[in-house]
Amino acid sequence: MKKSNLKWLLQVALLSVLIVAISAATVSATENLTVHFLDVGQGDSELLQFDGKNVLIDAGTSDMGPRVESYLRDHGVSSLDLLVATHPHEDHIGGLITILKDIPVKQVLDSGQTHTAPSFETYLNLIDQKGIPFETAQRGQTINLDPNLKIEVLSPPATLFSDDLNQNSVVLKVTYNKVSFLLMGDAGIEAENSLLSSSYNLDSDILKVGHHGSSSASSSSFLAKVKPAISIIEVGKGNDYGHPTKKTLSALQNTGSKIYRTDLDGDIVVTTDGQSYTVTTGKQPFWNTASTAPKSTSSATTWTSGGTASSTTATTTAALSSDGPFVGSAKSNKYHYPSCSGAQKIKPANQVTFSSSADARAQGYVPCGICHPP
Ligand SMILES: [Zn+2]
Ligand SMILES: [Zn+2]
Repeated sequence: MKKSNLKWLLQVALLSVLIVAISAATVSATENLTVHFLDVGQGDSELLQFDGKNVLIDAGTSDMGPRVESYLRDHGVSSLDLLVATHPHEDHIGGLITILKDIPVKQVLDSGQTHTAPSFETYLNLIDQKGIPFETAQRGQTINLDPNLKIEVLSPPATLFSDDLNQNSVVLKVTYNKVSFLLMGDAGIEAENSLLSSSYNLDSDILKVGHHGSSSASSSSFLAKVKPAISIIEVGKGNDYGHPTKKTLSALQNTGSKIYRTDLDGDIVVTTDGQSYTVTTGKQPFWNTASTAPKSTSSATTWTSGGTASSTTATTTAALSSDGPFVGSAKSNKYHYPSCSGAQKIKPANQVTFSSSADARAQGYVPCGICHPP
């Protein structure tokens, strides 16, 4: 066969795969579970959507509130059936303040821990003012969102772990037919050990890795039970904590897990019909989206439950520009990605633009501590 014929045949074959994938998606659209892992820099935020119902788990730091809110609105969310605060740390509950102010919430599920941080007090006051039913999470509960979806609270147990807010994170297992998600919040090894000695079936297709990929979570004995085909780490680019650690990354790789990271992949979306699932990334990390840099690789990979990738489709591909443009203020020495909340506060009259980080640094500017430009 001629080379050009072969190429043509391959194109037809690829097109057929795409058509089948698109029609399958259209037919089962109302019965799909979609779990979004939002890129909120250093912090966590997940949105579950199933048959018109919406659950938000955490919303990053308070700076990220507006970003999470616009993401929700872009995905048709005008009210939340459930809002889960995994634990009172700022990188999880800060953004919930914007959400509670702007979007009606039917129920809050909280870890039952207290914290003196101002954002936690504001969060509690808003729930109180709006009269939103508030429940404390405890191992053994199930959440009745939809009869076809099983949502179990695996942690914290009735007697909380010491006084470590992370260990007492709300841990959820979401199962839709054959496909399951384990969402760890910032829970670490103490919580993992307690789960290992419980009777729960920890085996999960998709793991939201505990504590941003730090070494305080993801022990190898725990990962050996979870056996995740996909591991998702919610983490900020260039964060001050060294997350994720090499130790955790190699432990995840040793289980044969494919790793996705919000600092590298941007928003990560998993869609499932209960039999197989598709992971879509593709956008540049949030920090770059407002820049004029070309779009990075966008891809969707379909997996069957149990872990083998059945088809891979790469759509747009272009070189990723790691630099510029950046924005600064004539009144300060910080430079930001244009999408940074710090950049958006700069009055137009004071705004200065740099084509690259080298340009900004040459003019005496230093990287913003929120958006961490290069
Ligand atoms: Zn955290
Ligand atoms: Zn935490």
